[in-house]
Amino acid sequence: MKDCIFCQIVRGEKPAELVYQSESLVAFKDANPHAPVHVLLVPRNHIRSINDLTEEDGPVVSELIFRAQKIAAELGIHRSGYKLVFNVERGGGQYVFHLHLHLIGGW
Ligand code: AMP
Ligand code: ZN
Repeated sequence: MKDCIFCQIVRGEKPAELVYQSESLVAFKDANPHAPVHVLLVPRNHIRSINDLTEEDGPVVSELIFRAQKIAAELGIHRSGYKLVFNVERGGGQYVFHLHLHLIGGW
């Protein structure tokens, strides 16, 4: 997706503070953090929203959650606690239409 901001980050065309990357996903710091730790985990493939997921996306969705768990531990916020959030569609607070999981914590 040419104009998708997260596709541009995934392709390295737009700068981001990466915290993790693999063949299937990228994690980077949110540009406008809502908490001391605010990381976004995004699949490399452009998936529009939770509403567009299909059965074949199962592995990458699972990987997003397990990677968020690991990043939370690495950043030392796993015991104090954190939120994992998918905003879905405009009414659910989604502004970037490339699937992403918010990892928020560090209070
Ligand atoms: P959402 O409201 O769920 O669509 O979340 C989109 C998130 O992306 C917001 O928290 C923004 O601060 C964040 N964001 C938008 N553009 C960038 C960017 N270029 N780099 C990092 N985070 C971004
Ligand atoms: Zn995209």
